[in-house]
Amino acid sequence: MRRLTERRLLVATHNAGKLDELRALFAPHGIDVVGAAELGLAEPEETEMTFLGNARIKARAAMQATGLPALADDSGISVDGLDGAPGVHTADWAETQTGRDFMQAMTRTWRELEARAVPEPRTAKFHATFVLVWPDGHEEVFEGVVAGRLVWPVRGELGHGYDPMFVPDGQDRTFAEMSAEEKNRISHRADAFRKLQAIFE
Ligand code: IMP
Repeated sequence: MRRLTERRLLVATHNAGKLDELRALFAPHGIDVVGAAELGLAEPEETEMTFLGNARIKARAAMQATGLPALADDSGISVDGLDGAPGVHTADWAETQTGRDFMQAMTRTWRELEARAVPEPRTAKFHATFVLVWPDGHEEVFEGVVAGRLVWPVRGELGHGYDPMFVPDGQDRTFAEMSAEEKNRISHRADAFRKLQAIFE
């Protein structure tokens, strides 16, 4: 596995919620995270059908625009009772004419579960795939997952995306009812991060 020698890392995301979580995960290791939006980088289109494919597109675009090693996170929620949907389309389910609306996406998810009369617990998994790419094209991939169940009505104000409807296994609160520190101990992103740590330890 290739080591990362820089103490600054470009993170190829325009998603503020993800960036905050990644910043908090890297900070204790003395690594400064810079977001793609802060550098004014364009957001590439995610045209692949897998988390890995889309993470690779984002990491490579940021690396090519800057000449710096770049890390991308492609993530989403796969609902068992919906045959894994929304999966790689998780962000798309929130798209509206005026930007992303996650209440709309969560409502659609619950409605589709109701329409299929999926029994409770309505299990789901958050996935995160990290791709770290160097300027010479070398890449390392790290995958993280957290299993849980969906609840309705949504609960909590913290976090981002689908957090208000997801209760991780072994817990009774949603991610949106947990502090950033609590979520960052058990999330899919934390799981992928634990594997990634070997690159700078
Ligand atoms: P991406 O930018 O294509 O990877 O979009 C991933 C989408 O998955 C995000 O916009 C969120 O809706 C959702 N997502 C990923 N990670 C989380 C999380 O930790 N909590 C809630 N939603 C998440």
